[in-house]
Amino acid sequence: MDDCIFCKIVKGEIPCYKIYEDDKIFVFLDRSPQGKGHTLVIPKKHSSNIHDIDEESLCDVMKGVKMMAKHIKEKLNPDGMNIKQNNGEIAGQAVFHYHVHIIPKYSEKQEYDIDELHNILKIN
Ligand code: AMP
Ligand code: ZN
Repeated sequence: MDDCIFCKIVKGEIPCYKIYEDDKIFVFLDRSPQGKGHTLVIPKKHSSNIHDIDEESLCDVMKGVKMMAKHIKEKLNPDGMNIKQNNGEIAGQAVFHYHVHIIPKYSEKQEYDIDELHNILKIN
């Protein structure tokens, strides 16, 4: 979609801290992180929410979420993590390209450098 910010990220038209991509999904750091390693997993194919995403894309994203959760746990050793996905403005959705948040949680406050974090997490 032409005016979609996440479609532009997938196409490389807007910069991001990319962690991983394959032919189906794209993974990058959230620009306003709620915790060290806050990551977004999105399908490359545009859909706005849970209601219009096709099942195959949804499965691709959730497989990516599982893989990235394992990767983040291994690399950052958080004490827990929230996996969440908002649908509709009233539910807190601000970007209308389907995305799943992975938000690592730590019992102690984390100080970090974004470029160092990116180097630790990036896969390709
Ligand atoms: P939501 O409220 O579920 O729609 O989440 C949208 C998320 O996208 C927020 O956490 C934003 O910080 C994040 N976000 C918006 N624009 C960008 C961007 N250009 N790069 C990285 N993350 C972004
Ligand atoms: Zn899009």
